[in-house]
Amino acid sequence: MPACSANCGKNAILKRPKTGDALCKECFFEAFENEIHFTITRAKLFTPGSTVAVAASGGKDSTVLAYVLKLLNEKYGYNLKLVLLSIDEGITGYRDDSLETVKQNRDDYEMPLKIMSYKDLYGWTMDEIVAEVGRKNNCTFCGVFRRQALDRGAMLLKVNYLATGHNADDIAETVLMNILRGDLARLNRCTSIITDSGDGIPRVKPLKYTYEKEIVMYAYFRKLVYFSTECIFAPNAYRGHARVLLKDLEKVDPAVIMNIIQSGESLCVNETANMPTLMTCERCGYGSSQKICKACTLLEGLNRGLPRLGIGKSSKVKKLIEQDDLKRSAAGCCKSKNKSDCGNCACNKNEIKRDLSKAVEELKI
Ligand code: SF4
Repeated sequence: MPACSANCGKNAILKRPKTGDALCKECFFEAFENEIHFTITRAKLFTPGSTVAVAASGGKDSTVLAYVLKLLNEKYGYNLKLVLLSIDEGITGYRDDSLETVKQNRDDYEMPLKIMSYKDLYGWTMDEIVAEVGRKNNCTFCGVFRRQALDRGAMLLKVNYLATGHNADDIAETVLMNILRGDLARLNRCTSIITDSGDGIPRVKPLKYTYEKEIVMYAYFRKLVYFSTECIFAPNAYRGHARVLLKDLEKVDPAVIMNIIQSGESLCVNETANMPTLMTCERCGYGSSQKICKACTLLEGLNRGLPRLGIGKSSKVKKLIEQDDLKRSAAGCCKSKNKSDCGNCACNKNEIKRDLSKAVEELKI
């Protein structure tokens, strides 16, 4: 075994994927933690005395994030109060198991835990949504609902920050994806280390420069308990192609991850800018870039028995919903929340639903 390249006198037991340095376990821990500390202090991620919710899924990223934040908080006196915030999407055989890991983290790290469920917030579990929408657009629903559920949880807990476990690979993948899609607006802001979802609670990414392979290594050597099974509804999505491309490039040169992030950053005017104009959703009252937020639009489609409705372009969908409402009103609709199953009223004749269904088809959503 070569000597540890930090000159501590011990033998190296690993090679750092990010730098290629041969290090002993202790020197790897120190380098890994110091880099995250540097990221936090350089970007001034937290104000002393704040409460921080760690978005905890039970996976490696959020487990390492919670562990390292607790450690750095004590070591450097950040003076933060840390809490765990988990979202239960209602995915049997996946989230129910991973939440058990989060509960273990709660006990191990002595942090309070709040769990918000899709069923309570939206009236639907992901199992039920997949039964309606199939396996094609399920992650659109899940992603939109999770983002809002985290915001709602953060507001409920009255925290000052929401810390997420996005790592360097995630961010490089997103940069690649936005380049491949030609989505310049998202490309312009996807490397931001701090974002604001409109509720005044910044989302921060302390692991922004931390390589995924090192997170796995750190969790392994620290013997952290985390959940590593992939979601049963994980699609063969576009992100998967960006991931494969990134992993192939990383084999040739590990620096490619940092290079992609830095290229993305150079397109970003400043670290917190370039967000769409944020307002409050007229329906649910939470942050949105449209009058009606995407979560409410998706819910509307689900509740009308036409889940694809919410996936379409917001302005066109809004017009369809308005027309549908007028027809229902004229037909004496009981205006029950679940318009696909509104009991004895006129909607049950299904003519109105058929009209809307046809309009959705025409939009080719
Ligand atoms: Fe949700 Fe899709 Fe992620 Fe599964 S893979 S947790 S359905 S976003």
